[in-house]
Amino acid sequence: MADFVTHVAVANLCGKATGDDRARAVLLVGTCLPDVLYKGLLYAAGSATWTAEPSHSPLPLVALCFGAAMLFEEAFRPRAFVALLSGCYLHVLVDLGKDYMGQGVILWAFPFSMHRIELGWYRPQHMTYMMAGSAVVIVLTELAFRRRAKVL
Ligand SMILES: [Zn+2]
Repeated sequence: MADFVTHVAVANLCGKATGDDRARAVLLVGTCLPDVLYKGLLYAAGSATWTAEPSHSPLPLVALCFGAAMLFEEAFRPRAFVALLSGCYLHVLVDLGKDYMGQGVILWAFPFSMHRIELGWYRPQHMTYMMAGSAVVIVLTELAFRRRAKVL
């Protein structure tokens, strides 16, 4: 799992491109869902790690986002579903790049396979540097889009 700041930076950058503030907010929520579910199962429910790992799998996230989209009013549900699922997939893509010491945590084909994947592009100790860079990306994104919207 990458850190929260990095996930928010990526989602904020992609969400700003949508041009819809409400969808962007839902996308930001979606980018938090996999880790909220993972940590909720792990710490709040006391589940074993292997039972929480499907929280970062593409297919279970479709079901999660479909259910979560039902919390919105009917007219916005399709956009909410797409925004939530896009946020979740952005989260999984960022986590996919991490080095999990060759173990991987992304169950890409769950429930049909328990095969785990990782790309190993960055190690957990690199997260400190990524957080600083991500905070800069958040600020630059805000400044660029506010300048475009002529708020600044
Ligand atoms: Zn994660």
